[in-house]
Amino acid sequence: MINSYAFLLTTINSLSEHIVVIDRTGLIRFVNRAWTEFGQENLCPTMDWTDVNYLAVCDSSADYGEEFSSAAAKGIRNLIAAGQGVFNFEYPCNSPDEIRWFMMTVKPFDYLLETYFLISHQNITKRKVAEEAVMALSRLDGLTGIFNRRWFDEFLAAEWNRCARLQAPISLAMIDIDFFKLLNDHYGHQAGDDCLIRIAETLSNQGKRPGDICARYGGEEFVYVFGNTNIEQAMVVLDRLMAEIRQLQIPNEKSTVLPTVTVSIGLAMMCPQETNTLKELINLADKRLFAAKLKGRNQIVST
Ligand code: GH3
Ligand code: MG
Ligand code: MG
Repeated sequence: MINSYAFLLTTINSLSEHIVVIDRTGLIRFVNRAWTEFGQENLCPTMDWTDVNYLAVCDSSADYGEEFSSAAAKGIRNLIAAGQGVFNFEYPCNSPDEIRWFMMTVKPFDYLLETYFLISHQNITKRKVAEEAVMALSRLDGLTGIFNRRWFDEFLAAEWNRCARLQAPISLAMIDIDFFKLLNDHYGHQAGDDCLIRIAETLSNQGKRPGDICARYGGEEFVYVFGNTNIEQAMVVLDRLMAEIRQLQIPNEKSTVLPTVTVSIGLAMMCPQETNTLKELINLADKRLFAAKLKGRNQIVST
């Protein structure tokens, strides 16, 4: 019985993975029941898979996003050319009401002088969603819940490149709480933590465009990136931010500026070019922050 075609077919049809076998030209030679059912539910309800060219479907499919289907076709073609090895590929396959991820594994095998390619599709949504949740968490600061330094570095580098392509300005603000050590010493570390949380909340409440983020840079320092934004436009947001922070009226009676919490800000802008670097932008904002402190704190320095 074990050697019978019917037994093996039943076994393959019992797999929850979607199985397709193609030949060297990409022509589909076999599909299992899970594939057919998935196709009926999602792709093309009336599809007869016999003699469909899998690679041609990938080439013309925009359903998974062009980038993914063309990358899948390229990977399979490379494997066909090599005739050996394995091709693994993770891709999104969202339905209108569900996020889904699949892992495609392609392996060649020989049968009666012909090489065929076994393509299996496994649903990896649970793992992928968990991975993405971990990724999202790793970008956040544990105390304040806003982005952390790690994500700021990544975001700023990407934004710098985007603005270089657009030939657009990028503005960066370094924000530092004034006399925060005195607040900590006078009211205790817990009050210091609460103050950081409220300042972070105020920062993240500012109107944001896709090229903008705020992050905790470390200790009592925060940063704000404004993509495709010049100094004047950034100043509008920062003036409002300063006013909102003053309005919080967080006590800091030992401060020599005001009896409530204030911040100093260094603001710099650059148009990314070959002659300047992102590090220079950060250093300039830092230098201006230092100048704001020297000039008496509770102010923005932008020249
Ligand atoms: P300046 O006006 O010049 O900025 O003075 P400052 O007191 O704000 O700056 P300083 O660098 O002297 O002190 C910063 C303090 O911030 C020291 C450190 O203990 C405190 N700090 C750093 N991280 C945290 C934190 O997560 N929670 C609390 N409560 N305090 C922190
Ligand atoms: Mg500081
Ligand atoms: Mg400070």
